Amino acid sequence: MAGTGQYAEILDGDVYKYYSEGEWKKSSSGKSVAIINPTTRTTQYKVQACTQAEVNKAMETAKTAQKSWAKTPLWKRAELLHKAAAILKEHKAPIAECLVKEIAKPAKDSVTEVVRSGDLVSYCAEEGVRILGEGKFLVSDSFPGNERTKYCLTSKIPLGVVLAIPPFNYPVNLAVSKIAPALIAGNSIVLKPPTQGAVAALHMVHCFHLAGFPKGLISCITGKGSEIGDFLTMHPGVNCISFTGGDTGIAISKKAGMVPLQMELGGKDACIVLEDADLDLVAANIIKGGFSYSGQRCTAVKVVLVMESVADALVDKVKAKVAKLTVGPPEKDCDITPVVSESSANYIEGLVKDAEQKEATFCQEYRREGNLIWPLLLDNVRPDMRIAWEEPFGPVLPVIRISSVEEGIHHCNASNFGLQGCIFTRDINKAMLISDAMETGTVQINSAPARGPDHFPFQGIKDSGIGSQGITNSINMMTKVKTTVINLPVPSYTMG
Ligand code: NAP
Repeated sequence: MAGTGQYAEILDGDVYKYYSEGEWKKSSSGKSVAIINPTTRTTQYKVQACTQAEVNKAMETAKTAQKSWAKTPLWKRAELLHKAAAILKEHKAPIAECLVKEIAKPAKDSVTEVVRSGDLVSYCAEEGVRILGEGKFLVSDSFPGNERTKYCLTSKIPLGVVLAIPPFNYPVNLAVSKIAPALIAGNSIVLKPPTQGAVAALHMVHCFHLAGFPKGLISCITGKGSEIGDFLTMHPGVNCISFTGGDTGIAISKKAGMVPLQMELGGKDACIVLEDADLDLVAANIIKGGFSYSGQRCTAVKVVLVMESVADALVDKVKAKVAKLTVGPPEKDCDITPVVSESSANYIEGLVKDAEQKEATFCQEYRREGNLIWPLLLDNVRPDMRIAWEEPFGPVLPVIRISSVEEGIHHCNASNFGLQGCIFTRDINKAMLISDAMETGTVQINSAPARGPDHFPFQGIKDSGIGSQGITNSINMMTKVKTTVINLPVPSYTMG
């Protein structure tokens, strides 16, 4: 059970403690932040509202701890990460329990998130020992005008303190996707978990605590992003920011100083369906891509662009599958569960009402109870409707009928977002041409967009992000190249 047994040390009365200097602490603010259960809409947990002084302390100790961590042999860093991964998997039940209660993620998916996170940490440890164990050796005589008098040795060095800010929808997985690469590369970590998902994140951090990482190397600062976010992101002690979330990331990018940024932001992933597509495959992927975790995924299918000639057939198939989706509480493993907050539900409703006013075709009746919104497919959506462009982050999916592939590509590229997209066709040549024309970080051919497997590069263009994630890319991003040049008095040619 969350908060009990060995987890009891992370709880003070009914408020979860924050983690700094290798210890579980109560904030001197005397204030807490409530976490509302999206299903019951009552307070489920409370976390400490950390102060600026507590952030300063975490930054200071992260800086000190990083110096000795960077001198810890790579294989030892990997060993500790493997240990943390094993503990994380062992403790999947209490962590998943928090995900169910804090973010209403279906029970099975919650367990999957924790197990996937353990796998990510292990993979990262393995990848790190390989790619950080190698450097480059360059010689000067390849550049015009030079003799072979300079030998250049390159290696990858840590950046220092990495600030990690994940979003509510994968508070464990998107936290470890930042923590593990940072640590294997010799950095320290200050984690600011999302408020919804903070308790799952604290239980995850406890697994790293049990693994025995040095004190101060990992901190977890809780509090509302709107209150301590700016202080954290503009803190002079931060050497790198890895953020996943919505438009907040654009504001952070404008405020952050001279530090490398990894930004994974929103998306409006388009699903382009050609006339020759396997419509059963498309319908199955629209359901999986559009409605998993009630559409609250950055890579959810967020607009279907289907050729008019096959639109009726596709919409019928999707409608039949929507009718089979179960709707209800996450504890019962329903397909559609309450969205994360009342404001999120209100936002989704605003998009639905706008589409209704502008006469989109409702394939189901719109239904909402509290934060629970029944799955809804909106057909005949036009570009003048908000849902054609905005990210609902809920179980509502617009279908736009197109008369040419160019029209579909144009709609995809006119979006401010450019995270992923997908194409369904049996013609690989057409698929390649369309993929090249789509301005998105990734295009999936004959499958719904997806972030995983976690070692694949993952990136967005335009307002969808800066840089690239995926295990290897994140390790590289959290390092800097350092070179040492040996200058010889005379040219030296090997075996020459
Ligand atoms: P969000 O509102 O942007 O919040 C993300 C994180 O930022 C949370 O930890 C939040 O903390 C924190 N935060 C809020 N204000 C801040 C500030 N001023 N400074 C620093 N941090 C601040 O996003 P969300 O609602 O959690 O997640 C949904 C969004 O994330 C969607 O747009 C989705 O597409 C995107 N997303 C993108 C990816 C990707 O990889 N591209 C993956 C998943 C989700 P609090 O919770 O305390 O406010």
